[in-house]
Amino acid sequence: MSTRIELALTPRDAADPSIVTRAALEAAGRSDGEVRIVRRSIDARGKHPVIRIIAEFSDIGDRISDIGELPSQTSSQTSSQTSSQTSPKAVIIGSGPAGYFAALECLKLGIRPIVLERGKDVRERRRDLRALMQESVVDPDSNYCFGEGGAGTYSDGKLYTRSSKRGNIREILQVLVDHGATPEILIDAHPHIGSNKLWRVVQNLRTTIENGGGEVHFGARVVDFLLSGNGTTPDRIRGAVTADGREFVADAVVLATGHSARDIYHLCFDRGIALEAKPFALGVRAEHPQALIDEIQYHHAPRDPFLPAASYSLTCQVDHRGVFSFCMCPGGLIVPAATSPGEIVVNGMSMSRRDSPFANSGMVVEVTEEHYRPAEPLSGLQFQAGVEQRAFAANGNGTQQAPAQRLVDFLEGRVSGTLPKTSYIPGHLSVDLWEVLPRPIAERLARGLRHFGRSMVGYVTNEAVLVGVESRTSSPVRIPRDRTSLEHVHVRGLFPCGEGAGYAGGIVSAAMDGVNVARGVAAALR
Ligand SMILES: Cc1cc2nc3c(=O)[nH]c(=O)nc-3n(C[C@H](O)[C@H](O)[C@H](O)COP(=O)(O)OP(=O)(O)OC[C@H]3O[C@@H](n4cnc5c(N)ncnc54)[C@H](O)[C@@H]3O)c2cc1C
Repeated sequence: MSTRIELALTPRDAADPSIVTRAALEAAGRSDGEVRIVRRSIDARGKHPVIRIIAEFSDIGDRISDIGELPSQTSSQTSSQTSSQTSPKAVIIGSGPAGYFAALECLKLGIRPIVLERGKDVRERRRDLRALMQESVVDPDSNYCFGEGGAGTYSDGKLYTRSSKRGNIREILQVLVDHGATPEILIDAHPHIGSNKLWRVVQNLRTTIENGGGEVHFGARVVDFLLSGNGTTPDRIRGAVTADGREFVADAVVLATGHSARDIYHLCFDRGIALEAKPFALGVRAEHPQALIDEIQYHHAPRDPFLPAASYSLTCQVDHRGVFSFCMCPGGLIVPAATSPGEIVVNGMSMSRRDSPFANSGMVVEVTEEHYRPAEPLSGLQFQAGVEQRAFAANGNGTQQAPAQRLVDFLEGRVSGTLPKTSYIPGHLSVDLWEVLPRPIAERLARGLRHFGRSMVGYVTNEAVLVGVESRTSSPVRIPRDRTSLEHVHVRGLFPCGEGAGYAGGIVSAAMDGVNVARGVAAALR
């Protein structure tokens, strides 16, 4: 039997395990015992932020591990993941969180996963990111979205999700801890890994897949499917073909290519595989000095050194459409997330310490069919690409230098005479963002920003800069699947999976979808 108690401590006290233990014992009226923290969150509603902790006691004799202890890499879960040459095979296209978690689950279920990834392994991929940042070279197979670990690897590594109905979040976090993530992610209300640590976790996931009998192929861009059926409508998939002509035949195909694989959507469309347009969101990234956000959120400047860089989450409705902050990165960087030359896309990431002097967040407007009639399956995709191309054309010099405008100047329709420094390494250029964003998007964004300036006083300031364009918030296309079997609605053996299929948004929900889809594959093969 264990007992739970709740504590509210100053940030300094909460950072000291001996003080936490003493406070917990005192609150429980006990003189000794082992204390384990099960939940930790920041409560910044009052004048002085406090850390709320839920702690658990074991009864005498129960050993509870300290949160600093890393569980062993060879947990029973990891070691039970094996398959053999005679096992049924699943080709998994994409090594993002959806693809890798599908592969791990396949192994548990006795299915051999063959992962095909267009990009490079995590280490090699870093070189291409450097070239993208410093020389504006966009490799269409290796960038912030493509390569081992998918868009999740060099991301911000925030691990919270609202999709608790889609699966077991704790199970996903435990697998990440088993593969080298800090155990704190199991207790924090807003868990975060950081880009500098995620790549190693991804590498360890691959080792588990390979040790269990799976295969991971890099530089394996899928350009066609092996399909059968009558006339132009396929009814079964038997495998996939890569750009170098290799054919991978399998019992099932998991399509986990993420929301940026436009070539895959076109391939599905051309090969008669049903697709649907779906709402997504588009806008800019707003960047403020982190000190300003700390001051607004924590009511003090400078922030308490025991508090992390402050974050925010803003949302409102403008004319029945959502305007909201997206993927807020405290102490982070704005990064170039284009996947093809000729486009500019920005996104945000941070390191585990979140110690850059900048706070950035997507500020986006919901995009629906009203913006891109006629509403055909790929219309949203084309609309999204058009905005990214306009952002690229705005600088006129062929680089990844991004169009930017001070926040107040944007609201007042004035081109900025000067721009503040930003964290965006390829550089930024003063441009009227009203010329880059479609008019209905810019109008709603401006009204949303004014609203946020009222609810978060100090947010609307000319110290803040808007950098364009934030367009890859979620997939503009859905690859429809059956709700129960998770198989494509008319192509047997094809399992659309993760964010690119329109069934996830974020690292944890994509990973959960991967697990669910692998279970769907196992059920279909039975
Ligand atoms: C900079 C950045 C920061 C982010 N920060 C966060 C965050 O903090 N928290 C969070 O939850 N989410 C974050 N995200 C979003 C998150 O990364 C995605 O939601 C998640 O990775 C989606 O997982 P997925 O497996 O469905 O697809 P992806 O991760 O996109 O993986 C798809 C994979 O498929 C591969 N692929 C594509 N086409 C082909 C093909 N034809 N053949 C073979 N392989 C192919 C790609 O190379 C890629 O590796 C961020 C994204 C970016 C870009």
